[in-house]
Amino acid sequence: MTAGSVHIVGAGLAGLAAAVALAAEGCRVRLYEASAHAGGRCRSYFDDELGCRIDNGNHLLLAGNRRALDYLERIGARDTLEGPEDAVFAFIDAQTGQRWSVRPNRGTVPWWIFWNARRVPHTRAAEYFGALALRWAGPTAMVTEVLDRRRRLFRELWEPLAIAALNTAVECASARLFWRILAETLGRGGAACRPLVPREGLSETFVDPALAVLHARGAEIRFGARLRALNFGPDHVSGLVFEADAIEIGRDDLVILAVPAAVAARLVPSLTVPDAFSPIVNAHFRCAAPPGSPLFVGVVDGVAQWIFRKHGVLSVTVSAADRVIDLPADALREMLWRDVALAYRLPAFPVPPARIVKERRATFLASPEQLRRRPGPTTSWQSLLLAGDYTDTGLPATIEGAIGSGFAAARQALACAHAKPQRAAGGGDIVTETTTRTDKERQRILS
Ligand SMILES: Cc1cc2nc3c(=O)[nH]c(=O)nc-3n(C[C@H](O)[C@H](O)[C@H](O)COP(=O)(O)OP(=O)(O)OC[C@H]3O[C@@H](n4cnc5c(N)ncnc54)[C@H](O)[C@@H]3O)c2cc1C
Repeated sequence: MTAGSVHIVGAGLAGLAAAVALAAEGCRVRLYEASAHAGGRCRSYFDDELGCRIDNGNHLLLAGNRRALDYLERIGARDTLEGPEDAVFAFIDAQTGQRWSVRPNRGTVPWWIFWNARRVPHTRAAEYFGALALRWAGPTAMVTEVLDRRRRLFRELWEPLAIAALNTAVECASARLFWRILAETLGRGGAACRPLVPREGLSETFVDPALAVLHARGAEIRFGARLRALNFGPDHVSGLVFEADAIEIGRDDLVILAVPAAVAARLVPSLTVPDAFSPIVNAHFRCAAPPGSPLFVGVVDGVAQWIFRKHGVLSVTVSAADRVIDLPADALREMLWRDVALAYRLPAFPVPPARIVKERRATFLASPEQLRRRPGPTTSWQSLLLAGDYTDTGLPATIEGAIGSGFAAARQALACAHAKPQRAAGGGDIVTETTTRTDKERQRILS
């Protein structure tokens, strides 16, 4: 536990994860959020035009996302996820209408690549081992410099996975980062690749249960609190300046800045952060999928890339969406419905009502150059820590990365608190041990 309060700015998943971890350690947590709601880029809301709740964007977790699942355990929301018993990724080719499924076996030995019915049609087992070249890729290598894009396996598996995971076109996406994703998912066997999606919505899974836990632990949460500036002392933050008021920060207090990269760069002098971003377009069609249809389908050579079946809604994701982001909503609705109708065997006309959501700065661009701009959780000021998907988590901008960054900042906050001199009863300073058994135990629990 920290002696003073921990002030967390930003209630996206990074801020919520830090808050949940620190509140569990008995810390006094104060959470400030600029908007009227928590969740940031990962939340649900009621759409008046469609007459139902939708997610701001489709978010897919995999069973191997251990930080995200740990977070859900902590907030009691693990059972709000659903997904197939085994890893199954259904695909359709939008040009030919051909369908196939990729079905990795559960264990870590990938025997699925030797089985026609489980791998991409017309590919050979040996081709899959070609992906191992990513492991030895240099820090500046792009995915297409390492994998042969003329191969069917590239077009029908590696490319859709890379674009979905990195939200970056394969020509400029980091080969090393793609390797990290493959190693954490396919490399750990089908059990780690089992897809999981929220049964109700993103807020019901990731946000509302976290707020309930924080309230129950006495955390103070302020919405509509936009941080305008930080006041700095020589080695610590001395104040938080909000639009409406200012708060003094004591020497025992800590601040975790869990805002998006561009906001952090405005607030913290000389902070280097990623400064190139990549868009995502989502389309939510008010339409039920035929019974028994797959939870989601990957589309190759279409405009849509992934289509998700939800309650009374079919939702489309287009990642690295530079090509379509400026198209008018009506044109996107028509183009994307063509792929949805094909994938879910629905009539091409009439096109159902749809909400098009464009996120121009959905995530940072996962290029080698941008990865070098990611800061760690600590700053030049002892009492100021950073969290957010843009920090150097070793992962792309994902739920797993954002939550991992929140946990890392919480670990660092506890370490700072335990390293700080504490006032002895007689007035002198005592330095507390940083490696007591309790601290080690805490590190284990939070890591
Ligand atoms: C459309 C879309 C689809 C995605 N799909 C996936 C997916 O399938 N799988 C996956 O894992 N990830 C996905 N992601 C990425 C994932 O949503 C993000 O990585 C994650 O939500 C980022 O969390 P964060 O807390 O780092 O940042 P944010 O969610 O941006 O949170 C930052 C918070 O800070 C607040 N804030 C900003 N400025 C201030 C200020 N001055 N004062 C106070 N508060 C402030 C914001 O309002 C916000 O609530 C997707 C993202 C988008 C946009």
